[in-house]
Amino acid sequence: MNKKLASEPTATMLPKMHPEAYPGLATDYGKEFAVEALKWRQANQPKQINNADLYAGSPMYYYCRVCGWLSDTKPEGWFLNPPAKLCRECSALKEEYGLPTPEGT
Ligand SMILES: [Zn+2]
Repeated sequence: MNKKLASEPTATMLPKMHPEAYPGLATDYGKEFAVEALKWRQANQPKQINNADLYAGSPMYYYCRVCGWLSDTKPEGWFLNPPAKLCRECSALKEEYGLPTPEGT
């Protein structure tokens, strides 16, 4: 899973809105970029892992309710604190400028 395939895009080949294509968070580059990056993430959502398909003991995956990208992973059976509802990008955007979409409020 962690092995990189030769065909896998490198950071420089990624669209500039891809979270891995820039250092830090999109909000570091201003509101306009952060909002564009959010739109890009919403339009290019990763395939989500269905926790029910994983073997017992696997960590649980949670996805951002605004953009659909991974927001959190938790070990199976966690109970202390709930998983993040927003990914790092969306929570930074919400904090800095407010989310442009109603579902994040
Ligand atoms: Zn998000």
